[in-house]
Amino acid sequence: MSEFALTFADIEAAHGRLSGIAHRTPVLTSRSADEASGARLLFKCENFQRVGAFKFRGAYNAISLLSPDRKSAGVVTYSSGNHAQAIALAARLLGSHAVIVMPHDAPAIKVEATRGYGAEVVLYDRYTEDREAISRRLAEERGLTLIPPYDHPDVMAGQGTTAKELLEDAGPLDLLLVPLGGGGLLSGCAVAARTLCPGCAVIGVEPEAGDDGLRSLRAGRIVHIDTPETIADGAQTRHLGEYTFPVIQGLIDDIVTVSDAELLETMAFFTGRMKIVVEPTGALAAAAALSGKVPVRGKRVGIVVSGGNVDWARITRSPGPPASCGSPADPAPAG
Ligand SMILES: *Cc1c(COP(=O)(O)O)cnc(C)c1O
Repeated sequence: MSEFALTFADIEAAHGRLSGIAHRTPVLTSRSADEASGARLLFKCENFQRVGAFKFRGAYNAISLLSPDRKSAGVVTYSSGNHAQAIALAARLLGSHAVIVMPHDAPAIKVEATRGYGAEVVLYDRYTEDREAISRRLAEERGLTLIPPYDHPDVMAGQGTTAKELLEDAGPLDLLLVPLGGGGLLSGCAVAARTLCPGCAVIGVEPEAGDDGLRSLRAGRIVHIDTPETIADGAQTRHLGEYTFPVIQGLIDDIVTVSDAELLETMAFFTGRMKIVVEPTGALAAAAALSGKVPVRGKRVGIVVSGGNVDWARITRSPGPPASCGSPADPAPAG
């Protein structure tokens, strides 16, 4: 039995549900990354996942586990990012109905993408209204089930399938680096790694401006911060979760931070050398290895590349690649 909200058996069960539905994304390597770091880097590329990020795994697992009645009543969540599209697509695939609460000034492209997956979008004023309160009210009034972006055992179990696949495909690792926002991905991956590769160190990587995870680990309790200013929009969370924090505290080795400049450099590396599109939050773990923030020399290092949905307008005022590059993708797996 585990003292935590999820066990490896939950991750295995989630993996069974996702089989044939989520992509088993490729593990890529790069000679130039290995030469630059002196390590063997194994990149688990969730930028090729459906909706362009690992969030599809947790969303699909959580909705699959609802009773038939709850599933047909529908689900609600608050997000303008990858979790919104993940819930929208998962709900559609599972015959449910998704309501997504988004700020009225969310980029039109994101609102359209979410509607494109068949979800109903409810807009709110981010300056005067509280999205969690709105979601709870909608859940109550309409009998919807709230599926939060990270603090939910079924979401965490789904995200953990990312590390399960990586360890199965890449073999034993000395170190696993995982991007950290609210901790759904890191907690799930830590449980998978502890079971499949007990000797593998697990380190979470968060943006320098949003170092609440590091501070929480040091303080031994969940530290809350103001919404951090960073280009890593998938990690702009203000605190870890009630379910994710104990797992992170109990199972991981450390948390490190990287700067926005290091993220931009790493994105440029992915584009220039590996020819893949990685969003800022998706580059967190790789940035920790390539910048030398975490010593990797001589090690076999798993790196979770968590997503590829770049909001070009947000990270630069100069015209970026064509708009289609930044829109949520639902690509076929590479290879
Ligand atoms: C949500 C997200 C994260 C952070 O995941 P958490 O489970 O909140 O820690 C990292 N990368 C991308 C691309 C994301 O969408």
